[in-house]
Amino acid sequence: MICVRCQQGITPGEPYEEHHHDSSSAAGCTNYSHKRCPEDEESAGSSRGDR
Ligand SMILES: [Zn+2]
Repeated sequence: MICVRCQQGITPGEPYEEHHHDSSSAAGCTNYSHKRCPEDEESAGSSRGDR
């Protein structure tokens, strides 16, 4: 599975979320994303400037 937010692989056992996209013309699709992306962790840490 590939996370739609950070485009990185979601490893088995890692918490993820399913996003169902219903479409009237097609059968729809399901996207997956981390519950917390690795990039979110990094940006959250850098944005909290401790000064
Ligand atoms: Zn992700």
